Amino acid sequence: MSRRDRGLVCYDCGRRAPADRARCSCGEPLWFPVEPAALALNGHPANLWQYASTLPPADPIGIARTAGGTPLFRAAALDAAAGCRVHIKDETANPTGSFKDRGSAVGVAVAARGTRPVLTVSHGNMARSVAAMAAAAGLECAVLVPADIPPERLGPIARFDPALFRVEGDYGALYDDALDIDGAVALNSDVPLRVAGQKTLAYEIAAALPEADGVVLPVSSGGNASAVWKGFRELARADVIDEPPALYLVQSAACAPIATAFDSGATRPATVDAGETIAYSIANPDPPSGARALAAARETGGAVVAVGDEAIRRARARLSTRAGIAAEAAAATSLAGLQELARRELLQVDDDVVAVMTGTGLLEAPEHGEQPPTITREAVAEAVGEHLGGREA
Ligand SMILES: *Cc1c(COP(=O)(O)O)cnc(C)c1O
Ligand SMILES: [Zn+2]
Repeated sequence: MSRRDRGLVCYDCGRRAPADRARCSCGEPLWFPVEPAALALNGHPANLWQYASTLPPADPIGIARTAGGTPLFRAAALDAAAGCRVHIKDETANPTGSFKDRGSAVGVAVAARGTRPVLTVSHGNMARSVAAMAAAAGLECAVLVPADIPPERLGPIARFDPALFRVEGDYGALYDDALDIDGAVALNSDVPLRVAGQKTLAYEIAAALPEADGVVLPVSSGGNASAVWKGFRELARADVIDEPPALYLVQSAACAPIATAFDSGATRPATVDAGETIAYSIANPDPPSGARALAAARETGGAVVAVGDEAIRRARARLSTRAGIAAEAAAATSLAGLQELARRELLQVDDDVVAVMTGTGLLEAPEHGEQPPTITREAVAEAVGEHLGGREA
């Protein structure tokens, strides 16, 4: 039996557990241990399977083969607003438009080895991602959504034809219920398989920008923040990088349990009463990996901040109009968060910081301003000429 088959370890207390568990007996989440010897970055990968030797044994089929390998590029037009040198890690380039594809790809590919059904509790990017990957692998898939899900959110999931259940009652409590359903591989937001896939985001950032000073990303369950932390820790332990970059995590002010705990010095977040926010993808009032996300921010010298909807709206618009990036509101919090960090003087203007664009805005219809003018065909040459000439002046 290879080391890779030997089960899970608790990041916090170090106890070992069998591979089918999600949480340690201490209550904290588990993750897959990795041998430092397995790590070599070797430039920009075509997809995350370049790092297969650091992942649980898997059988990727269809679009699961194409997750990861996303672009990382400099976006100097955002520097002035962000107060640092901005680099974009464009996770919207994943097959279904979000970083969730990394975790879904690995989870579905592991389930495919035993032709086991998969299951998830999500009404957004994670549900769409798991359903699409399962469809391509020919696996059965169940998705638990809240009973009041609006049709415009249900459609993008339903097109992949998973078994959908609209569940009444406490949606948050379903997270644990799903882990206990026998026979199905639960691919919830912070399960070890998902974290294993999503840690490759850190590997790709390190391969492209080994000297990054910081990485900023939105945080909800804390699963992805844990994954990025795990990836950088592994690289540091293998001496591939000197030390992990500072991890800056951003929440919406309407639902900010992790930011509140960070400010108060608590080691685990308390459940909050969530308000409405345009960043609906990051509105978990009781984050299952909250303690782990706090540890990630603190141990890397980072921070957790909260930003309001107005700042998120402005950041989303700035990403589109200055950098041509269609980010969903939750993803735009990365830029809004940088602005907040700069305001608190936690960034230097020459810091190289990677802002992770976690999910596409192409499924959203952001409100736009006034209607564009309507003109006749005869007037086109003059109107366009005047407008563009006028802009130049
Ligand atoms: C899921 C999601 C997040 C938050 O990730 P967690 O692992 O739950 O913390 C951030 N941005 C987008 C676009 C997401 O879909
Ligand atoms: Zn433990």
